[in-house]
Amino acid sequence: MAGQINAFEMAQKQFDSVAKQLHLDPGVAEVLRWPMREFSFRIPVRMDDGSLRVFQGFRVQHNDARGPNKGGIRFAANETMDTVRALATWMTWKCAVADIPLGGGKGGIIVDPSTLTLNEKEEMCRGWVRAMWKNIGPRNDVPAPDIGTTPQMMGWMMDEYSRLVGQYTPGVFTGKPIGGGGSLGRTEATGYGVIYTVREAMNHLKIDPKNSVAAIQGFGNVSQYASIGFVELLGGTVACVSCYDRHDKKAYTYSKKGGIDPRFLLTIVDEYGTINKQKAQDAGYIVEDGDAWISKEANVLIPAAMEGQVNSDTVAKMSKGIKIVAEGANGPCTPEADEYFKKQNIFNIPDFLCNAGGVTTSYFEQVQNDMNYYWTRDAVLERLDTKMTHAFNAVLDRSKGEKVYMRDAAYMVAIDRVVNAMAMRGWLSGNA
Ligand code: NAD
Repeated sequence: MAGQINAFEMAQKQFDSVAKQLHLDPGVAEVLRWPMREFSFRIPVRMDDGSLRVFQGFRVQHNDARGPNKGGIRFAANETMDTVRALATWMTWKCAVADIPLGGGKGGIIVDPSTLTLNEKEEMCRGWVRAMWKNIGPRNDVPAPDIGTTPQMMGWMMDEYSRLVGQYTPGVFTGKPIGGGGSLGRTEATGYGVIYTVREAMNHLKIDPKNSVAAIQGFGNVSQYASIGFVELLGGTVACVSCYDRHDKKAYTYSKKGGIDPRFLLTIVDEYGTINKQKAQDAGYIVEDGDAWISKEANVLIPAAMEGQVNSDTVAKMSKGIKIVAEGANGPCTPEADEYFKKQNIFNIPDFLCNAGGVTTSYFEQVQNDMNYYWTRDAVLERLDTKMTHAFNAVLDRSKGEKVYMRDAAYMVAIDRVVNAMAMRGWLSGNA
């Protein structure tokens, strides 16, 4: 069951299997299977009703051999240290596979942000920075938004850090608002990045994108732009999207005959990725149970909501026509699902390759902050496409060359790069 999956155990299991294939020195493997540093702290927040509440915060820095740690901050009710560890670990592999000079970090707060007022959210953001500011920074650790956090929140966090260090420091957080140090193209970057890799996979498998149909889980930042990209960049059809309805406290799948219109759905979704059910039904959308997305007739499956969604229970429900699974979310497919994909000859685009568009554009944002010179949206997306295409093909070449599964090939490319950086810095000689 999805609820019982420990994401960090899954991240370690994936790593261990590739470390074995690479004959990695056991000591080096031990360095990489755990984060280098972990922070766990309490954040007191004065609520609007006058009460003082204390929230649990986290930051994990997995490995910074290739450059400053990089990774989002989640505000989620089900956040755990192990989830943060897993996501920080995957960030190390993601930055390495995308070949950007950054390491792996992740953070979070245990809170449902939809229960907070604007003022409480700002207090919480500033509180997180007050707890962590000495251990983050543009040359140290650069957080960004993730589930439950927004560009506005990154603006507050950057402001709090700048106040504490006494200097305007836009490069300390990425995913900031446009005009407040943010980069054009960041909003669509992860979803479009997913689509650039799907395009390359179709090219490799000789699949016509125009005759392709995608079934997508989620309708948050990643899935919104993956849906738009699938329709507008590839000319394909999106059979369905899904979302967790925070009012009904359950997930729904939204589909429409002839395919959904993602631009329309964008007008009736809230900032937490919940589609307005009534407005969707009024516009002729079919609303089904949250699980229905996985069995829709399609040849591309894009799980882009959360971890552990394609697992031993749900994989059997997958449409038999699926040829490509593009992991928009982090850790959406379990090792059991991988075994199924291998048996069925389904082409997998692993998460830390598939969704690397977000961090790549965050890196571009930092570069622009450093230069204090901002690029056009087209320039950002063109550079993103080049990076994603190179990353995809480096992994595909390794997969073909060593006859290994795409996830293993991505790990091989990433682990080699991180181990090389550690060796070049002398971390493995025992003198560091
Ligand atoms: P988001 O909060 O904007 O959206 C999440 C979406 O998933 C929402 O529509 C929510 O309703 C839906 N959802 C949650 N539980 C669900 C369920 N049980 N069934 C169906 N839908 C469900 O988050 P996001 O930024 O789009 O991130 C999605 C995933 O992608 C996460 O795993 C995140 O770590 C990963 N990711 C995000 C980025 C980014 O730039 N935003 C980059 C890389 C990876």
